[in-house]
Amino acid sequence: MMLGQRTASIAKNPAALLRSRALKTAPAAARMFSQSAPAKISFELDEDQKMYQDLARRFTREHIIPAARRLDETMEYPWELIKKAHEIGLLNTHIPEQYGGPGLGLFECSLISEELAFGCTGVQTAMEANGLAEAPLLVAANDAQKAKYLGRMTEEPLVASYGVTEPGAGSDVANIQTRAEKRGDKWVINGTKMWITNGGHANWFFVLARTEPNEKPHRALTGFIVDGDSPGLIRGKKEINMGQRCSDTRMITFEEVEVPEENVLGKPGDGFKIAMGAFDITRPLVASGAVGLAQRALHEATIYAKERKTMGKPIIAHQAIAFMLADMQMAVEASRNLVWKSCWAKDQGMRNSFWASMAKCTASRAAVSNADQAVQIYGGLGFNSESAVEKLYRDAKIFELYEGTSQIQRLIISRHLADLYNA
Ligand SMILES: Cc1cc2nc3c(=O)[nH]c(=O)nc-3n(C[C@H](O)[C@H](O)[C@H](O)COP(=O)(O)OP(=O)(O)OC[C@H]3O[C@@H](n4cnc5c(N)ncnc54)[C@H](O)[C@@H]3O)c2cc1C
Repeated sequence: MMLGQRTASIAKNPAALLRSRALKTAPAAARMFSQSAPAKISFELDEDQKMYQDLARRFTREHIIPAARRLDETMEYPWELIKKAHEIGLLNTHIPEQYGGPGLGLFECSLISEELAFGCTGVQTAMEANGLAEAPLLVAANDAQKAKYLGRMTEEPLVASYGVTEPGAGSDVANIQTRAEKRGDKWVINGTKMWITNGGHANWFFVLARTEPNEKPHRALTGFIVDGDSPGLIRGKKEINMGQRCSDTRMITFEEVEVPEENVLGKPGDGFKIAMGAFDITRPLVASGAVGLAQRALHEATIYAKERKTMGKPIIAHQAIAFMLADMQMAVEASRNLVWKSCWAKDQGMRNSFWASMAKCTASRAAVSNADQAVQIYGGLGFNSESAVEKLYRDAKIFELYEGTSQIQRLIISRHLADLYNA
């Protein structure tokens, strides 16, 4: 079937887009990005990309937005939305086709993430945490591990977790204290992980543990896949966070948890590299979530500024308000462009850490600052939970913290500068 015909038939039923074998095997953008010659730069989305975006946009409008306030108030985990998203193919979008996923490029995944985040970043984080858990497997798992653990994610609506942070070590990943010890043909894990997204519901965990006590810090860690029902794996209570309250964050304790040798990712000692390599995939998507929130804040604030009148005119006609909106627009656009560049670089097979950090740092600032300005534009109403923007203000802050704080992103960016600029 020609691309045009296929596109026309899928346009009648966009959900089929992500289910269709034909499209799964040959999205034009995926083909383009997989070639080694650099793709021509274009800021126009192709037909397939527009349909992925449209599918996510409609899912957000029809399902996420109507549920967002209730989920924020009750802090209920968004299982129903996750199941629906799985059904139409909006979950686990970067799992390769050979393991049952749609195998989308990072660029396409970012279009989807931004749309979901526009509706509720709590829901988007719960969904995106799957991508975070899966990323170390994409980086380093062997075929059997991918078939078993990525495969099952596509077969049923499951969630997984990325377990690196501990009570005593977040930014300082090399200093984690959870230990894994080889006993016979098994590894035994002891330790505590903290702030683990999806921790209460995860079917399996990526876990980073110290295995090589005599090696340098960056060679001392190993990555494991740990089944959620392993004896000794204890899930703590759901943490009550400032925002993104339907997302599930917990302490996870490992007491003599046995893991078979076949669940080691890569080689013992590779763990730090694997855990960091995963961020090249996930930071652009966290950044696109932040763009979604920044865009929502701009959207709500502009509509309100056109309606609200003071001193005889809509507040958008006061230059002070209009300029705030202009700043918000620039922040969204600049951040989105960095997201797209960081995704494009990864899809081209380039190392994108530098761009991913710039995208994450810039977009998370845009989310925080746009949410702040939206509350300002709403006036007193913005401080009230009945407004559309109070939740955005609470939800935004985490973007500057998780998956590497903004200070850590600046550390990564600044380390590249010495190589970039020479006399
Ligand atoms: C809601 C939520 C969800 C999360 N989900 C997950 C998850 O799924 N999996 C997971 O593994 N982790 C998760 N995290 C953990 C998160 O990634 C860490 O909180 C984050 O990396 C920061 O680590 P920390 O909290 O230990 O802060 P610290 O590392 O103690 O940092 C404290 C402050 O010092 C600054 N700082 C630290 N080191 C430096 C430095 N070298 N130079 C300059 N400044 C520095 C930091 O930027 C920060 O401002 C989550 C956290 C939250 C709150």
